Amino acid sequence: MGRRATPLVAGNWKMFKGPSETASFCAALAARLHALDGVAVAVCPPYVSLTKAVHALVGARIAVFAQNAHWQETGAFTGEVSPGMLLDAGVAGAIVGHSERRRLFGDTDETVARRAVHALEAGLEAIACVGELEAEREGGLTEDVLRRQVGAIAAEVGSHERLTLAYEPVWAIGTGRTATPGQAQEAHAFIRSLLDVPILYGGSVKPDNAAELMAQPDVDGALVGGASLDVESFAAICERACSRS
Ligand code: PEP
Repeated sequence: MGRRATPLVAGNWKMFKGPSETASFCAALAARLHALDGVAVAVCPPYVSLTKAVHALVGARIAVFAQNAHWQETGAFTGEVSPGMLLDAGVAGAIVGHSERRRLFGDTDETVARRAVHALEAGLEAIACVGELEAEREGGLTEDVLRRQVGAIAAEVGSHERLTLAYEPVWAIGTGRTATPGQAQEAHAFIRSLLDVPILYGGSVKPDNAAELMAQPDVDGALVGGASLDVESFAAICERACSRS
């Protein structure tokens, strides 16, 4: 599977932007990126805003992804949403295993792998997140952690044409501390040696560091949190990705 033909830039909105704001934001983003070619773009709004985004982006070449998806299609799983429901709402894919889901909401390597499998089997694209904590990096455990996290996904899914991984060092998420391009490249090359699928970098990507990160040979795009909440910042990152392809 290997690298993407065009880089992907996905904006993870986290718990920001309800339906009203989503409609106006997506209209502005679509207008801003209208002429952009050579990069695939996705936005990942909260569940309640997904259909607003889908409708606002009709004809815009910007995909809509959810921030999570369950591994069962229906059932007594209060608060969860299934891949089939997301497809029914016009959603193209889902993030699974974001470190905030692992750290704050009990996701494990096993549940992340199950979420990824079911999302893919149902027909969604999946962006599965992996990455080490700061203490793990400082303790020289980065490769062990990545081997365990990627290994769990690889054991269940293997390589799949709709599977993308995101390397998100937890110490770089929302902190303003980006991995250096060298650190990102090293981790991406290691991950690719375990599972040869496209790999996005995530962790404080901003317009001024995006080009150098995405120029690394094993970086296939970016998963962007904070900077994806602003049309101009997110559009600028998409433009930097475009100049890499
Ligand atoms: C994220 O939430 O996936 C992320 C990378 O956040 P930020 O860009 O804000 O670090």
